[in-house]
Amino acid sequence: MLLQRPYNSFEIAQAQFDRVAALIGLDEATRELLRWPLREHSFAIPVRMDSGAVQVFRGFRVQHNDARGPSKGGIRFHPQETLDTVRALAMWMTWKCAVVDIPLGGGKGGVVCDPHNLSAREQEQICRGWVRQMSRNVGPVSDIPAPDVMTNAQHMLWMLDEFEAIQGGRYPGFITGKPVGMGGSLGRTEATGYGVVFALREALRELGLPASATRASVQGFGNVAQYAIRLYQQLGAKVICVSCWDQNDQAAYAFKRPAGVDMDALLLITDRFGGIDKEKARGLGYEVLPGDAWIEQPVEVLIPSALENQITTESVTRIAPSVRIVAEGANGPTTTDGDEALEKRGIHVIPDFLANAGGVTCSYFELVQSNTNYYWEKDEVLGKLDVKMTSAYLAVSELARKRGLSMRDAAYVIAINRVAQACRDRGWT
Ligand code: NAD
Repeated sequence: MLLQRPYNSFEIAQAQFDRVAALIGLDEATRELLRWPLREHSFAIPVRMDSGAVQVFRGFRVQHNDARGPSKGGIRFHPQETLDTVRALAMWMTWKCAVVDIPLGGGKGGVVCDPHNLSAREQEQICRGWVRQMSRNVGPVSDIPAPDVMTNAQHMLWMLDEFEAIQGGRYPGFITGKPVGMGGSLGRTEATGYGVVFALREALRELGLPASATRASVQGFGNVAQYAIRLYQQLGAKVICVSCWDQNDQAAYAFKRPAGVDMDALLLITDRFGGIDKEKARGLGYEVLPGDAWIEQPVEVLIPSALENQITTESVTRIAPSVRIVAEGANGPTTTDGDEALEKRGIHVIPDFLANAGGVTCSYFELVQSNTNYYWEKDEVLGKLDVKMTSAYLAVSELARKRGLSMRDAAYVIAINRVAQACRDRGWT
């Protein structure tokens, strides 16, 4: 995964930025401002462990840029967390919020710890300790955290409770990813997968492909994949292959059914981590293939929704000639070389920070609902999500066409220009 890569994510994020900054002729001062975070917090969280001994954990919060609005981004718990990983992710959040035009900036946080080896009480103490260290620098009008790798709604509620105890009031807009009924938003569970398909629907329309005449193959069968498949099927399309990680075998498998996967039946044999029981799948008539077989299926659409670095110069050669669109549900599923190879093949890519921005868009809706203490119906949330995703997709594809850019470069140009403009308007640069 991201954290075990031999290379440095922040250097990659800066290189991506530098390339597009040169492309749009961004002035030196704005470049210098945007290639680094505005603020970085690095701190200690002492916790009295269940054993009675005190252990000190390292915590981070990076606020990359908040010219367009309060910083927004998750808090990760990971044993290999580094400041550079958090910096890169904070920067990517700035571009993601800007490309869908929500009034938020980019942030990310983390704690170096492994929740697998921590009791619930110890995790609660880490959450409360993180907030105690950061309470002056985060909040509904400055920086709004959310769940991320190995953190969930419970962690968010402990953090909210600590923040409210310190501030002496109720501030549900301090954090998102809360459970529905405790300040969470309806539709958040569906938001990322549905957002991928709202964008995909527009791409199909542009390419003149009726959804009902298309098939997709999906890597992953977790939150993003499941809701993307559901909505894509509702458009009349077929998903013929999905894949997942098998915890027992420590291997990935692909599950193929040319007539189309049956979501209701598959979900009955899927665990909460998005792992499908392969014996039961065989029983349901699925062909069980090696994990990487998802990429070579005879489909029109590929939806990588699991891991980064899956579409590479090597794996591109296995993509079928029928494939017209890659909709990136996952973060970073395509390497830089893989991207060039896709472009050469003329495959239309919906880049990750546009395709999967439905998640943060719905978190923004949660923030708005929490701040006004008025909660919307699910249809209203999903309708607003559709409007945001559709207009973001159309703006990117129009720019790509006009300027002869790839979809990824066009998305970066829009995002960086918006943030740069906000910095200029504020008189920062
Ligand atoms: P998840 O944990 O719910 O599901 C991950 C899925 O990937 C599981 O089905 C797992 O079995 C599968 N998987 C793991 N290794 C695999 C392998 N080698 N081959 C095939 N499948 C494999 O995660 P998710 O929330 O669906 O997130 C998926 C991706 O989308 C990640 O890159 C995440 O960063 C990104 N993303 C998620 C959200 C969100 O709101 N959930 C938002 C933006 C981006």
